[in-house]
Amino acid sequence: MAYKIIASQCTGCSACEFECPNTAISMKGDTFIINPKKCTECKDHFDSPKCAEVCPVDNTCVPA
Ligand code: SF4
Ligand code: SF4
Repeated sequence: MAYKIIASQCTGCSACEFECPNTAISMKGDTFIINPKKCTECKDHFDSPKCAEVCPVDNTCVPA
């Protein structure tokens, strides 16, 4: 399972990029995307998905 970023809601703040333990998040155009092959939903790293936790916009990092 992986998370995804709702591009239309992403402000491009980049907060999530630096928190991802799997470097699954990268910039694409004005927003960020999650590589589903690298995203583990933070299993074995954190209790909950870190990108969703740090994102300032509610419901922008969500289950894919
Ligand atoms: S859920 Fe975790 S592993 Fe997946 S993109 Fe977000 S921070 Fe990275
Ligand atoms: S933390 Fe949220 S608003 Fe900021 S770049 Fe990531 S998905 Fe976009």
